[in-house]
Amino acid sequence: MIRLYVDQPLGAEATVRPDPDQCRYLLGVMRLKTGDELLLFNGRDGEWLARVGEAGKKTCALVLAARTREQSVTPDLDLVVALVKRNRLETIVEKAAELGCRRVRLAITRRTNADHTNVARLQAIATEAAEQTGRLDVPLILEPEKLGAMLDGWDSARFLLFCDEGGHVPTALQALRDADGPWAVLIGPEGGFDDSERSRLHGESFVRACSLGPRILRADTAAIAALTLWQASAGDWRD
Ligand code: SAH
Repeated sequence: MIRLYVDQPLGAEATVRPDPDQCRYLLGVMRLKTGDELLLFNGRDGEWLARVGEAGKKTCALVLAARTREQSVTPDLDLVVALVKRNRLETIVEKAAELGCRRVRLAITRRTNADHTNVARLQAIATEAAEQTGRLDVPLILEPEKLGAMLDGWDSARFLLFCDEGGHVPTALQALRDADGPWAVLIGPEGGFDDSERSRLHGESFVRACSLGPRILRADTAAIAALTLWQASAGDWRD
């Protein structure tokens, strides 16, 4: 069953008009016809069964039939990832959506090789992954910001799991022990963190440094591993 994210109110008897790209996808690519069913969600009103009403060449109207799932909140988990190369960053965003992140914050660090990226494209990837993975919300992809500024403005109620490849740090499961509360996971760039960043991070009260094992992982592997460990020990992979 096709699932579509629409940023419109969803309720009984409502009619939803997807945007032109979504209409093209539904009618052109998925070849839906009048009467065909699909699922809609908007991050606020749960998931709804809808049927294709009128279907023109480029426009269509979807008529809501019944709510299939109540809106639920996913665990409060952010991913902070340094601006790595585009294709790896796109993989990380897709996996962050599947692994239940609420937000993906993009960090500019001393060793990132870019200070900008196509955030709109990353948001589209996150939306498509949320549709596929069965989420009721879409992770928000935030504009890149310097790591120092991000830490200056950090909400200290949120723990930051600093995945530190520099060694001499606790294991991830040890670091996650005091896990009740909102968390963020921090993954560095291909070149890793430099000493000044490492010492800044180790000095912050909300930071919990951790190792992801004895081997150096690519940033996408590290992100997937760290998010998985968090979900399994403190998130919605527990019983
Ligand atoms: N500087 C490394 C590469 C960094 S890997 C090198 O020597 O090549 C990119 C990021 O993944 C790191 O900054 C870190 O956040 C994370 N990472 C990779 N392997 C890790 C490990 N074994 N323990 C903790 N974090 C790791």
